[in-house]
Parts: sequence; structure tokens; C-alpha cells
Amino acid sequence: MINNLELIKNQANWCLGCKSRPCSNACPMKTSIPEFIEKIKENKIEEAYNLLIENNIFSHVCSLVCPQENQCQGSCVRGIKSTPTQIGELEKFVNEWVVQNDIKPVVSQKQIKKNVKVAIVGGGPAGLACSYELVKNGVKSVVFEKEQVLGGILSYGIPDFRLDKKIIDRIINILKELGVEFRLGQELGKNISIKQLKEEYDYVFIGIGAELSSRYKLANERLDSIYDSDEFLRAYNFKNFIKNLGKVVVIGGGNVAMDSARSAVRMGAEKVSILYRRDRSHMPAREIELKETLNDGVEWVELTRVNNANVKDGKMVSVHCNKTQIIDGKAIDIEGEEFDYDADTVVFAIGLKPNQELLQSEGLELTEWGTILVDSNNQTSIENVYSGGDVTENKSVVCKALASGKKAAKSILNKIIEP
Ligand SMILES: Cc1cc2nc3c(=O)[nH]c(=O)nc-3n(C[C@H](O)[C@H](O)[C@H](O)COP(=O)(O)OP(=O)(O)OC[C@H]3O[C@@H](n4cnc5c(N)ncnc54)[C@H](O)[C@@H]3O)c2cc1C
Ligand code: SF4
Repeated sequence: MINNLELIKNQANWCLGCKSRPCSNACPMKTSIPEFIEKIKENKIEEAYNLLIENNIFSHVCSLVCPQENQCQGSCVRGIKSTPTQIGELEKFVNEWVVQNDIKPVVSQKQIKKNVKVAIVGGGPAGLACSYELVKNGVKSVVFEKEQVLGGILSYGIPDFRLDKKIIDRIINILKELGVEFRLGQELGKNISIKQLKEEYDYVFIGIGAELSSRYKLANERLDSIYDSDEFLRAYNFKNFIKNLGKVVVIGGGNVAMDSARSAVRMGAEKVSILYRRDRSHMPAREIELKETLNDGVEWVELTRVNNANVKDGKMVSVHCNKTQIIDGKAIDIEGEEFDYDADTVVFAIGLKPNQELLQSEGLELTEWGTILVDSNNQTSIENVYSGGDVTENKSVVCKALASGKKAAKSILNKIIEP
């Protein structure tokens, strides 16, 4: 973290202020990067903040969790011959400076229209970004969220050592002050339905994410010590720590695997290992995340497929594995290279998918991947019902979920203006 103003200014001055804005174009939220950096150069940090927040209320979150090296920073022209401008660090600095100085955001808002009502189902990044864009443009929405907390994965998935939950609280408060209404404990498919919402609201947005963890069978008997990443991370985030984890094996190679392993360390596991079927150069996790995971003492075992669990007296004692090699990008088992790896607990972190059964029962058309089918305006197969975020896109990231929520809101606004 660059925390000295002089260092920050030096970093800002490294930016060339390119007119073609490759950094902004590579950002899913199209952040005004050269412009906010210019404000830092001019020592106008509050103005930089208002510029960021006007476009993206999750700016602070994005500065902490976005894979900048593949997005804005990855397109910075400075990076061609040297190091790219540290855009993420600059965005983080602006947001932290504002918190330290207790500055409130200045959000320009149009007068609220009394005759239009929008229902948003799911209070994660996609739903909240949608509500923000609408309320700024004078359209109020009601967010229906099944949990008792808002923020989705940002609250119960990404752990607090990566993302301080006070940041989410601050965002929710801004939304409340602008006029967004929240109803907690409201679950699509249980106490609400699209049909019913359509009767009461003019438009509906579905942003319920992808919550079902993928897993495969490790043993014939049911073992209590096998977890999905979702339940495992909720246990950590809600401080319901799982006791007596013993030796933990996390299966996977993405940021969910890293977060699960690091949470296992903090819940007191004796030893934590990540077993991944591919190698480091093929892992979906960011290199920096793996580095931090290794710093926490987690063992990284690559090119290893976990096939089944060895059970003794009803308890798992180890997992049976096969060494793999990468051929044409695929992990292929090497014949005869089998071994056992000590494990008392296993966490599956191999992917999340939407609840297809629920979506189909609500009458939504799905893609072949089981996500909600949307058109170029983010409208679903049902008229005036929009969608975005992980429920429409596989393997998404926060910034893309925000961008699709915002895009859906813009489509709704266009319809309101041109009925
Ligand atoms: C452990 C983990 C770590 C991650 N780390 C990163 C990272 O470092 N960087 C990054 O960019 N991305 C990361 N991601 C991905 C990112 O979190 C998601 O892409 C993003 O949260 C998707 O936003 P969303 O609003 O579509 O869904 P979600 O965040 O899943 O929010 C969906 C909301 O809908 C609610 N809901 C679900 N079902 C219903 C229902 N039936 N009725 C009403 N409400 C419902 C949920 O409770 C939730 O509040 C991570 C994901 C995970 C799981
Ligand atoms: S590409 Fe890099 S140097 Fe050019 S404006 Fe963006 S951050 Fe600045």
C-alpha cells in the first residue's frame, strides 16, 4: 500500500493521461482512470473520490479485489516497456483517504419519479449496482434479499482479511440515504415469485448469483468432514468457526480455494494444503493471492487429482490421489503415480453454479451452461424482467457483475424515458 502522499503523487505522475484511454476501456465499469489520476496530481483527492463514486459505488471494493493485472493495469501503455501505473493502489488510496478524513460522497441525483417501481431480487454486487444506477436517475427500487445481510459474496464469501466488511456497510448506508429500500429474508422461489413481483412492480431485476457448489463423490458413506466452499466460507465469515478441522485439504485452484485455505488456517486447522489438478501457470487464482496463501503457511500441491477418501472407523484419514500432467491444457492422470495424502477435512472449491431448478420453475429461459439467458440489454426471456451478475455469467468477477447490474438499470431507464 502506498500511504505517503508524495509517493502517491509520484505514482500518479507516472500516468501519461493517454487520450485513447486503454485502461478505462479495459475496465468493465469504464472507470474514468486518467481523469481521477489527474485529480490526484492536482491534490484534489475528494474530487477524485466523487468522480470514482459517481460511476461506481463499489470503487473501494474494486480497488481491493479486482484482478487489475488482467483489466485496467494490464492495458496500461506504461506496462509495454516498464511497469504499469498502479491504478488499483491509487484507487485504494483515494477511498482510504476519504474514510480516514470522514468525507461523505456527493452523488448527483435526479428527482424521484413516483409512478415507476422496480423490484430487485438479490442484494449482491449486481443487484446493488442496479439499484444505485436507478436511484441516481430518480427511480426507486426495493431490494429483496433472502439472507439477513446484504452484499452477497462480498459479505459471506470473500473473507474479512481481504475485504473489511465496514466497506460494505458504508455502501449500503449510501444506498439507503439515496432512497433504496431493502427487504431481508425474502427468497425467490419461497416467499416471492417473479409472477407476483410483476403484478406489483413495473420492472424486475434478478441478481441472485451462483450459489450451488460443484462437488464429486469421494466416499460411499456420508462424511461430515467434507464441505462445500460456500458453507465453509460462511462459517468463517459469520464467525461460526468449525472446530477440530485437523489436516485440511482444499480441492481447487481459484480464488475460492485460496480464500477457503486461508480461512481454514484462521479457524485453527493443524495443517492446510491446496491440491490442484493443474499447475501454477494454469490456475485461475491471481498470483498475488497464491503468494499470500503461501505466506499463511498453506502447502501448495499441484498436478494432483483427488479421487477418493480413505475412511477408517467412519472417519476420513487421507485422500487417494493421482499425479497429473498437462497435455493440451488438460490435466491427464499419469498411470501408476498414485499416492495417499493425509486429510481429516476436505473442502471442495471447484466452482459455483446457479440454481437451475429454481430459475426454470420461475419460467426463465436458460443457456446451455445453466445461466439465465439475457439479450444485449440484459433482458431475460420474460418481458420487463432483467438479470445480471453471476446468475447470467459463468466464472464472473465483482466488476463484471457490477457492470451488468448497471447495464440492466440503463436498459430499464431507457424504457422509462421512451415507453
Ligand atoms: C470465495 C469467493 C471469492 C471471490 N473473490 C473474488 C475476487 O477477489 N475478485 C473478484 O473480482 N471476484 C471475486 N469473486 C467473484 C465475485 O464475488 C462474484 O462475481 C460477485 O459477487 C457476483 O455478484 P452477484 O451480485 O452476481 O452475486 P452474489 O454476490 O452471489 O449475490 C447474490 C445475492 O442474491 C441473494 N440470493 C440468492 N438466491 C436468492 C433468492 N432465491 N432470493 C433472494 N435472494 C437471493 C444472495 O443471498 C446474495 O446476496 C469471488 C467469489 C467467491 C465465491
Ligand atoms: S493507460 Fe496507463 S498511462 Fe495511459 S492513461 Fe491509463 S493509467 Fe495512465
